[in-house]
Amino acid sequence: MRYVKTHVSLGGRPTGEPFSAPVYTFEGSGGGRSVYLQGNLHGPEVFGTALLTALVQEFEKWDQVPGTVTIVPCANPLGVQETAYNTHLGRWNSKTGLNWNGIFTAPTRWSSREEERAYYAQRLISARSIEERLEAELRSLSSQADVCIDIHTNCRESIEHVMTLDTMSTHFESLGAPVHLVQTDEKLGNSFEESHYHFTPEVLPEDRPWACTWEVSSDGLMFDIDVRNRLVKLLNWFAYVWQFDSHISAFKPEVYWCGEHLYATDSGYLAWTKRAGEYVCAGDVYAKLYHPNSVQVEELKAEHGLTLIALGGVVAVTKGDRIAWIGYNP
Ligand SMILES: [Zn+2]
Repeated sequence: MRYVKTHVSLGGRPTGEPFSAPVYTFEGSGGGRSVYLQGNLHGPEVFGTALLTALVQEFEKWDQVPGTVTIVPCANPLGVQETAYNTHLGRWNSKTGLNWNGIFTAPTRWSSREEERAYYAQRLISARSIEERLEAELRSLSSQADVCIDIHTNCRESIEHVMTLDTMSTHFESLGAPVHLVQTDEKLGNSFEESHYHFTPEVLPEDRPWACTWEVSSDGLMFDIDVRNRLVKLLNWFAYVWQFDSHISAFKPEVYWCGEHLYATDSGYLAWTKRAGEYVCAGDVYAKLYHPNSVQVEELKAEHGLTLIALGGVVAVTKGDRIAWIGYNP
Protein backbone atom coordinates (compact mmCIF):
# COMPACT_ATOMS: atom_id res chain seq x y z
CA MET A 1 0.00 0.00 0.00
CA ARG A 2 1.24 3.46 -0.83
CA TYR A 3 1.63 6.18 1.77
CA VAL A 4 2.15 9.92 1.85
CA LYS A 5 5.40 11.07 3.42
CA THR A 6 5.59 14.60 4.82
CA HIS A 7 7.77 16.26 7.45
CA VAL A 8 7.26 18.02 10.76
CA SER A 9 9.51 21.07 10.64
CA LEU A 10 11.33 21.99 13.85
CA GLY A 11 13.66 24.82 12.99
CA GLY A 12 17.29 24.05 12.40
CA ARG A 13 20.92 24.08 13.43
CA PRO A 14 22.75 27.37 14.00
CA THR A 15 24.48 26.70 10.69
CA GLY A 16 21.14 26.65 8.89
CA GLU A 17 20.48 22.98 8.16
CA PRO A 18 16.81 22.21 8.91
CA PHE A 19 15.58 19.79 11.56
CA SER A 20 12.54 17.75 10.65
CA ALA A 21 10.80 14.48 11.45
CA PRO A 22 9.18 12.25 8.80
CA VAL A 23 5.44 11.61 9.01
CA TYR A 24 3.91 8.61 7.19
CA THR A 25 0.19 8.65 6.42
CA PHE A 26 -1.70 5.59 5.17
CA GLU A 27 -5.09 6.78 3.93
CA GLY A 28 -7.94 4.59 5.20
CA SER A 29 -10.68 3.35 2.90
CA GLY A 30 -13.08 1.41 5.09
CA GLY A 31 -14.52 3.90 7.57
CA GLY A 32 -12.47 2.45 10.43
CA ARG A 33 -11.08 4.47 13.33
CA SER A 34 -8.17 6.74 12.48
CA VAL A 35 -4.99 6.13 14.45
CA TYR A 36 -2.00 8.30 15.34
CA LEU A 37 1.23 6.72 16.60
CA GLN A 38 4.47 8.38 17.65
CA GLY A 39 7.71 7.24 19.26
CA ASN A 40 10.93 8.63 20.67
CA LEU A 41 9.52 11.85 22.15
CA HIS A 42 12.13 11.36 24.85
CA GLY A 43 15.57 11.23 23.23
CA PRO A 44 16.85 8.04 24.92
CA GLU A 45 13.67 6.06 24.21
CA VAL A 46 14.60 4.87 20.76
CA PHE A 47 12.60 1.62 20.77
CA GLY A 48 9.48 3.33 19.42
CA THR A 49 11.32 4.53 16.31
CA ALA A 50 12.42 1.00 15.40
CA LEU A 51 8.97 -0.41 16.16
CA LEU A 52 7.14 2.20 14.07
CA THR A 53 9.60 1.79 11.20
CA ALA A 54 8.71 -1.92 11.25
CA LEU A 55 5.03 -0.97 11.26
CA VAL A 56 5.43 1.25 8.18
CA GLN A 57 7.14 -1.70 6.45
CA GLU A 58 4.27 -3.96 7.49
CA PHE A 59 1.54 -1.66 6.17
CA GLU A 60 3.40 -1.32 2.88
CA LYS A 61 2.53 -5.00 2.32
CA TRP A 62 -1.19 -4.46 2.94
CA ASP A 63 -3.66 -3.72 0.12
CA GLN A 64 -5.51 -1.18 2.25
CA VAL A 65 -6.11 -0.10 5.83
CA PRO A 66 -9.68 0.40 7.12
CA GLY A 67 -8.86 3.65 8.91
CA THR A 68 -6.26 6.33 8.27
CA VAL A 69 -2.97 5.73 10.14
CA THR A 70 -0.50 8.55 10.82
CA ILE A 71 2.92 7.45 12.03
CA VAL A 72 5.72 9.64 13.42
CA PRO A 73 8.52 7.15 14.21
CA CYS A 74 10.82 9.74 15.77
CA ALA A 75 8.83 12.60 17.30
CA ASN A 76 11.91 14.35 18.65
CA PRO A 77 14.89 14.45 16.27
CA LEU A 78 16.55 17.01 18.56
CA GLY A 79 16.48 14.86 21.69
CA VAL A 80 17.66 11.67 20.03
CA GLN A 81 20.95 13.21 18.97
CA GLU A 82 22.03 14.02 22.51
CA THR A 83 24.45 11.33 23.59
CA ALA A 84 27.38 11.13 25.98
CA TYR A 85 29.69 8.42 27.27
CA ASN A 86 28.06 5.46 25.61
CA THR A 87 24.49 6.40 26.49
CA HIS A 88 21.55 8.49 25.26
CA LEU A 89 20.54 11.70 26.99
CA GLY A 90 17.73 13.94 25.71
CA ARG A 91 14.89 13.31 28.13
CA TRP A 92 15.04 17.06 28.75
CA ASN A 93 15.93 19.88 26.41
CA SER A 94 19.51 20.54 27.49
CA LYS A 95 19.15 24.23 26.66
CA THR A 96 15.99 24.87 28.71
CA GLY A 97 15.81 21.96 31.15
CA LEU A 98 12.22 21.23 30.09
CA ASN A 99 10.98 17.63 30.00
CA TRP A 100 10.07 16.92 26.38
CA ASN A 101 6.96 15.10 27.60
CA GLY A 102 5.88 17.99 29.81
CA ILE A 103 5.34 20.59 27.07
CA PHE A 104 1.68 19.81 26.25
CA THR A 105 0.15 22.57 28.35
CA ALA A 106 -3.43 23.07 27.17
CA PRO A 107 -4.88 25.68 29.57
CA THR A 108 -8.48 25.07 28.64
CA ARG A 109 -11.13 22.35 28.39
CA TRP A 110 -12.56 21.97 24.92
CA SER A 111 -16.26 21.34 24.36
CA SER A 112 -15.71 19.49 21.08
CA ARG A 113 -12.98 18.00 18.92
CA GLU A 114 -13.44 20.89 16.50
CA GLU A 115 -12.43 23.26 19.32
CA GLU A 116 -9.40 21.11 20.04
CA ARG A 117 -8.32 21.25 16.38
CA ALA A 118 -8.87 25.01 16.20
CA TYR A 119 -6.78 25.45 19.35
CA TYR A 120 -3.77 23.65 17.88
CA ALA A 121 -4.19 25.33 14.48
CA GLN A 122 -3.78 28.62 16.34
CA ARG A 123 -0.79 27.25 18.30
CA LEU A 124 0.91 26.47 14.99
CA ILE A 125 0.74 30.17 14.16
CA SER A 126 1.64 31.54 17.60
CA ALA A 127 4.41 29.07 18.58
CA ARG A 128 7.67 30.83 19.49
CA SER A 129 9.88 28.41 21.43
CA ILE A 130 11.08 25.07 20.09
CA GLU A 131 8.91 23.35 22.71
CA GLU A 132 5.79 25.25 21.57
CA ARG A 133 6.59 24.39 17.96
CA LEU A 134 6.97 20.68 18.73
CA GLU A 135 3.77 20.65 20.80
CA ALA A 136 1.77 22.40 18.08
CA GLU A 137 3.10 20.19 15.26
CA LEU A 138 2.55 16.86 17.04
CA ARG A 139 -0.83 17.77 18.52
CA SER A 140 -2.10 19.17 15.23
CA LEU A 141 -1.42 15.75 13.74
CA SER A 142 -2.90 13.76 16.63
CA SER A 143 -6.00 15.95 16.93
CA GLN A 144 -7.12 14.50 13.58
CA ALA A 145 -7.19 10.93 14.96
CA ASP A 146 -9.69 8.87 16.93
CA VAL A 147 -6.98 6.93 18.77
CA CYS A 148 -3.45 7.94 19.80
CA ILE A 149 -0.53 6.01 21.24
CA ASP A 150 2.67 7.66 22.46
CA ILE A 151 5.40 5.01 22.66
CA HIS A 152 8.06 5.33 25.38
CA THR A 153 10.56 3.21 27.28
CA ASN A 154 11.29 3.34 30.98
CA CYS A 155 14.47 3.03 33.08
CA ARG A 156 17.22 0.40 32.95
CA GLU A 157 14.88 -2.50 33.70
CA SER A 158 11.10 -2.34 33.37
CA ILE A 159 7.98 -4.26 32.47
CA GLU A 160 5.64 -3.13 29.73
CA HIS A 161 2.88 -0.88 30.99
CA VAL A 162 0.16 1.38 29.68
CA MET A 163 -0.83 4.72 31.21
CA THR A 164 -4.31 5.97 30.34
CA LEU A 165 -7.66 7.16 31.66
CA ASP A 166 -9.66 4.66 33.70
CA THR A 167 -12.48 4.81 31.13
CA MET A 168 -10.12 3.92 28.24
CA SER A 169 -8.08 1.12 29.78
CA THR A 170 -10.01 -1.67 28.05
CA HIS A 171 -9.27 -0.16 24.63
CA PHE A 172 -5.57 -0.82 25.13
CA GLU A 173 -5.72 -4.32 26.64
CA SER A 174 -4.88 -5.81 23.25
CA LEU A 175 -1.39 -4.34 23.48
CA GLY A 176 -0.75 -7.14 25.96
CA ALA A 177 0.98 -5.04 28.62
CA PRO A 178 0.80 -6.79 32.02
CA VAL A 179 0.20 -3.53 33.94
CA HIS A 180 -2.07 -0.53 33.36
CA LEU A 181 -1.71 2.64 35.43
CA VAL A 182 -4.97 4.55 35.26
CA GLN A 183 -6.15 7.98 36.33
CA THR A 184 -9.28 10.11 36.20
CA ASP A 185 -9.29 13.29 34.17
CA GLU A 186 -9.87 15.59 37.17
CA LYS A 187 -6.21 16.43 37.60
CA LEU A 188 -4.18 16.35 34.41
CA GLY A 189 -0.47 16.77 33.86
CA ASN A 190 1.25 18.10 30.75
CA SER A 191 2.18 14.89 28.97
CA PHE A 192 1.26 14.21 25.34
CA GLU A 193 -1.21 11.51 26.38
CA GLU A 194 -2.89 13.64 29.06
CA SER A 195 -3.34 16.57 26.66
CA HIS A 196 -5.94 14.43 24.85
CA TYR A 197 -8.28 14.44 27.88
CA HIS A 198 -8.86 18.21 28.03
CA PHE A 199 -12.60 18.12 27.42
CA THR A 200 -15.53 19.53 29.38
CA PRO A 201 -17.60 16.92 31.25
CA GLU A 202 -20.40 17.28 28.69
CA VAL A 203 -18.24 15.60 26.06
CA LEU A 204 -19.06 11.94 26.48
CA PRO A 205 -16.22 9.41 26.77
CA GLU A 206 -17.17 7.86 23.43
CA ASP A 207 -16.78 11.27 21.74
CA ARG A 208 -13.26 11.80 23.07
CA PRO A 209 -10.13 10.40 21.45
CA TRP A 210 -8.67 7.31 23.05
CA ALA A 211 -5.11 7.99 24.14
CA CYS A 212 -2.39 6.22 26.06
CA THR A 213 1.30 6.16 26.80
CA TRP A 214 2.72 2.72 26.04
CA GLU A 215 5.94 2.05 27.95
CA VAL A 216 7.05 -0.66 25.64
CA SER A 217 10.48 -1.72 26.90
CA SER A 218 13.50 -0.48 28.86
CA ASP A 219 15.94 2.29 27.93
CA GLY A 220 19.28 1.40 26.41
CA LEU A 221 20.03 -1.75 24.42
CA MET A 222 17.41 -2.89 21.95
CA PHE A 223 16.96 -6.49 20.79
CA ASP A 224 15.29 -7.30 17.50
CA ILE A 225 13.28 -10.15 19.01
CA ASP A 226 11.61 -7.56 21.27
CA VAL A 227 10.88 -5.24 18.32
CA ARG A 228 9.20 -8.11 16.42
CA ASN A 229 7.30 -9.14 19.57
CA ARG A 230 5.88 -5.64 20.09
CA LEU A 231 4.97 -5.43 16.39
CA VAL A 232 2.82 -8.55 16.82
CA LYS A 233 1.16 -6.95 19.83
CA LEU A 234 0.58 -3.71 17.95
CA LEU A 235 -1.03 -5.57 15.04
CA ASN A 236 -3.23 -7.45 17.49
CA TRP A 237 -4.31 -4.11 18.90
CA PHE A 238 -5.10 -2.82 15.39
CA ALA A 239 -7.29 -5.89 14.94
CA TYR A 240 -9.24 -4.77 18.02
CA VAL A 241 -9.44 -1.14 16.83
CA TRP A 242 -10.69 -2.18 13.41
CA GLN A 243 -12.74 -5.13 14.69
CA PHE A 244 -11.00 -7.82 12.67
CA ASP A 245 -12.13 -11.39 13.33
CA SER A 246 -8.50 -12.33 13.85
CA HIS A 247 -8.31 -10.25 17.02
CA ILE A 248 -6.92 -12.36 19.84
CA SER A 249 -8.90 -11.88 23.03
CA ALA A 250 -7.28 -9.30 25.19
CA PHE A 251 -4.82 -10.03 27.92
CA LYS A 252 -6.24 -8.78 31.24
CA PRO A 253 -3.68 -6.51 32.89
CA GLU A 254 -3.22 -5.68 36.54
CA VAL A 255 -4.80 -2.23 36.92
CA TYR A 256 -3.28 0.19 39.40
CA TRP A 257 -4.64 3.57 40.40
CA CYS A 258 -1.42 4.81 41.96
CA GLY A 259 1.85 5.10 40.05
CA GLU A 260 4.67 6.82 41.89
CA HIS A 261 8.40 6.84 42.51
CA LEU A 262 10.36 5.10 45.23
CA TYR A 263 13.06 7.29 46.78
CA ALA A 264 16.38 6.37 48.36
CA THR A 265 16.04 6.64 52.14
CA ASP A 266 19.76 7.30 52.58
CA SER A 267 22.94 7.60 50.56
CA GLY A 268 24.74 4.47 49.43
CA TYR A 269 25.14 1.89 46.69
CA LEU A 270 21.89 0.28 45.66
CA ALA A 271 21.58 -3.48 45.11
CA TRP A 272 18.13 -4.80 44.19
CA THR A 273 16.83 -8.00 45.77
CA LYS A 274 13.77 -8.00 43.46
CA ARG A 275 13.41 -7.63 39.69
CA ALA A 276 11.05 -5.37 37.74
CA GLY A 277 7.65 -7.01 37.54
CA GLU A 278 7.84 -8.61 40.99
CA TYR A 279 5.19 -7.94 43.61
CA VAL A 280 6.60 -6.89 46.98
CA CYS A 281 4.49 -7.51 50.11
CA ALA A 282 4.34 -4.91 52.89
CA GLY A 283 7.45 -5.24 55.04
CA ASP A 284 9.44 -7.26 52.49
CA VAL A 285 12.95 -6.20 51.47
CA TYR A 286 13.23 -5.04 47.86
CA ALA A 287 16.78 -3.62 47.87
CA LYS A 288 19.87 -3.04 50.00
CA LEU A 289 21.99 0.07 50.39
CA TYR A 290 25.73 -0.47 50.91
CA HIS A 291 27.34 2.43 52.80
CA PRO A 292 31.10 2.70 52.15
CA ASN A 293 31.55 5.31 54.90
CA SER A 294 29.92 3.48 57.81
CA VAL A 295 30.38 -0.07 56.45
CA GLN A 296 26.68 -0.69 57.09
CA VAL A 297 24.18 -2.44 54.82
CA GLU A 298 20.64 -1.05 55.08
CA GLU A 299 17.62 -3.04 53.99
CA LEU A 300 14.90 -1.12 52.11
CA LYS A 301 11.44 -2.49 52.94
CA ALA A 302 8.07 -1.86 51.32
CA GLU A 303 5.69 0.31 53.34
CA HIS A 304 2.76 -1.36 51.57
CA GLY A 305 2.23 -3.95 48.89
CA LEU A 306 3.53 -2.76 45.51
CA THR A 307 4.64 -3.93 42.08
CA LEU A 308 8.07 -2.82 40.88
CA ILE A 309 7.43 -1.51 37.37
CA ALA A 310 10.75 0.12 36.47
CA LEU A 311 14.17 0.18 38.15
CA GLY A 312 16.46 3.18 37.61
CA GLY A 313 19.93 2.93 36.15
CA VAL A 314 21.88 5.04 38.67
CA VAL A 315 22.93 2.86 41.59
CA ALA A 316 25.19 5.22 43.57
CA VAL A 317 22.46 7.31 45.19
CA THR A 318 21.89 9.99 47.77
CA LYS A 319 18.91 10.35 50.08
CA GLY A 320 15.84 11.40 48.12
CA ASP A 321 16.97 10.17 44.71
CA ARG A 322 14.31 8.48 42.60
CA ILE A 323 15.24 4.82 42.33
CA ALA A 324 12.15 3.10 40.91
CA TRP A 325 8.65 3.50 39.53
CA ILE A 326 5.95 1.46 41.26
CA GLY A 327 2.25 0.66 40.99
CA TYR A 328 -0.23 -0.14 43.78
CA ASN A 329 -3.80 0.30 44.89
CA PRO A 330 -4.37 2.08 48.21
ZN1 LIG B 1 9.51 8.66 28.02
